[in-house]
Amino acid sequence: MTKSDDFEMRLSNVRRRIAEACARVGRNPDSVGLVAVTKGFAPGAVNIAHKAGLRFFGESRVQEALWKAEHCGGGIEWHLVGHLQRNKAPAALSLFNVLHSVDSIRLIEHLERLAVAGGGRPDVLLEVNVSGEASKFGFHPEAVPKAIEVLLEGRVLTLRGLMTVPPYHPDPEIARPFFDRLRAYRDAWSGDFGIGLPDLSMGMSHDFEVAIEEGATWIRIGSALFGERPTSAELRACMASDES
Ligand SMILES: *Cc1c(COP(=O)(O)O)cnc(C)c1O
Repeated sequence: MTKSDDFEMRLSNVRRRIAEACARVGRNPDSVGLVAVTKGFAPGAVNIAHKAGLRFFGESRVQEALWKAEHCGGGIEWHLVGHLQRNKAPAALSLFNVLHSVDSIRLIEHLERLAVAGGGRPDVLLEVNVSGEASKFGFHPEAVPKAIEVLLEGRVLTLRGLMTVPPYHPDPEIARPFFDRLRAYRDAWSGDFGIGLPDLSMGMSHDFEVAIEEGATWIRIGSALFGERPTSAELRACMASDES
């Protein structure tokens, strides 16, 4: 089996599971966007998945994503799914179409200034730390209305919705209340502000079916599509051999 055959098998399995989850709750599978999360994988993985018809690719680190994008063809929409440091914001705006992980008002203000000055106009999702875990990035839910206000005052960033990463647990049912809560927050804030917040980015390889049942419009899938992630040392070696 080639790598490409492996990928096609995993993809058809993921697509079947998406369709089954949608069927359980009466949703159209076209309403669920699949972001292939390629962080940690070499550019070859992106190219195989792109050839197989995927168009949305997720990365956690700006430098790694810029490097990878140089080795990939056009027609890809890049999504940032990891924490963004402000000093990386200009580079992030040069590549990413969608930022799933916007997590502070200072970052919003910084992105808005850069975007006004001509640095790209991404769609933005606000990452919400629904569980309150100290180790997680994301807005405390109480801080989100202020962030929405700041985004609405801005001129160039488009607020599309909310993203969350629930605490990891192998049983996906444990994540369900967190997904349900994100959707409830979305409904409340979209009512309070009289705006549509159409996108809910939630669900990863081990819990995406539950996320779909709870309303996810973006699922972020890495290992279920690409297999086990290489170690960071392996990826660094790959990046280094490329530069020599
Ligand atoms: C790595 C990552 C994913 C994908 O994780 P898998 O378990 O490999 O599907 C999704 N979302 C975020 C924020 C990630 O960092």
